[in-house]
Amino acid sequence: MLKVAKFGGTSMADATQFKKVYDIINSDAERKFVVVSAPGKRFKEDNKITDLLYLTHAHTKFSVPYTPVFKIIEERFNSIKEELNLNIDLAHEFEVIKQNLDNKCEEDYIVSRGEYLSALLLSDYLKCDFIDAKDVIFFNYDGTINKVKTNEKLAEVFSKTKKAIIPGFYGSYSDGSIKTFSRGGSDITGSIIAAAAGADIYENWTDVSGFLMADPRIVNNPRQIKKITYQELRELSYMGASVLHEEAVFPARQAGIPINIRNTNEPDNPGTLIISDEEKFKSNGNDSVITGIAGKKNFCIFYVHKEHMANEVGVIRKALEVFENRGISIDHIPSGIDSFSIILPSESVEKISHEVAEELKIKCNAQAVTVSKNLSLITTVGIKMAYRPGISAKLFTALGENNINIRMIDQGSSEINIIVGIDDKDFENAIKAIYNAFVQ
Ligand code: ASP
Repeated sequence: MLKVAKFGGTSMADATQFKKVYDIINSDAERKFVVVSAPGKRFKEDNKITDLLYLTHAHTKFSVPYTPVFKIIEERFNSIKEELNLNIDLAHEFEVIKQNLDNKCEEDYIVSRGEYLSALLLSDYLKCDFIDAKDVIFFNYDGTINKVKTNEKLAEVFSKTKKAIIPGFYGSYSDGSIKTFSRGGSDITGSIIAAAAGADIYENWTDVSGFLMADPRIVNNPRQIKKITYQELRELSYMGASVLHEEAVFPARQAGIPINIRNTNEPDNPGTLIISDEEKFKSNGNDSVITGIAGKKNFCIFYVHKEHMANEVGVIRKALEVFENRGISIDHIPSGIDSFSIILPSESVEKISHEVAEELKIKCNAQAVTVSKNLSLITTVGIKMAYRPGISAKLFTALGENNINIRMIDQGSSEINIIVGIDDKDFENAIKAIYNAFVQ
């Protein structure tokens, strides 16, 4: 068995957390390749090292002295080193970074230093190899990963090491300059490493024991999701259940590697396992027919009314062009015989909704276009609900019994989720009602 483990910012936040990570890695010899984030927040009001690094770069950009902010960063790393009695020459590392800052280095380089130093410290602590991500993760100039080069190089270095720590969040362009992923991108590094190493599992260690069936701020003590499919996860994450970077799923999924979300502060909890559809169907258990519920507030609907629309070709295309031309992405297009609606987050059309409505009316030659705001979307997800009658009846009954008016219904074509649109004011009650209907 080969495991790739990734530890997020809160797992690397201070020496106490480093000790937990040390124990987790040492408790299982199969955890051979470890990807780390930069130290994150130790408490709610604390700063993430990565944020502070962005801030130092902003200081250099506007020619404001960066040393006060950099000092905070130095202190954070120094205290980890001192508490753990490590040997690494941090003073030298800071000197190099400061020289580069003085020479107006690129932002991507400076913000990647959190992961770099975090990995150096952990490899010193565990007495194992350090592999710099810039030497193994390669980007194309369009920002995508050069998979062939990356996998070749990773295969080469993996054949020479027994245990290694690799910084997450960055790699390099072919000229050697540093390129970072989007924020939270160490999850992606971990997934790429797991795929390249042919790992049996990709463990993603964070500060929660996996996914919950609903937001615990709304539902009291919701059940933990034990197994979720990649697709179910995408549906839930899109609607706001965020634990893992969206793009982190792809490399592992393509390679058929399950992802296990684990909690560094509760290592005995098995967490949530993200698996393929086939695997989920195989495991019967006494799981609920739904896997999870998630939702978001603040959507708006453009309702386009056009008589005999069904007989006319291209009306919806013309409407979509109105959004496309403005670079606005849309979420849903429920349609009827003489009307259709376009649903998207209100913030994308915040100041231009009337202008867009007017343009839709002209372009589609519609009788009326109305805009209505304060819509919430709630998705109820479960791969096991496909081809199973009675699920939507149960869901709509639950909403009806709680006096919640449904403004829109949509079902993903794979039948793994049912989406309802309701008023923002009913958001919390609707989630509670659906949860209670399906989970006893
Ligand atoms: N440290 C980076 C961030 O805060 C990347 C990561 O933690 O995954 O976004």
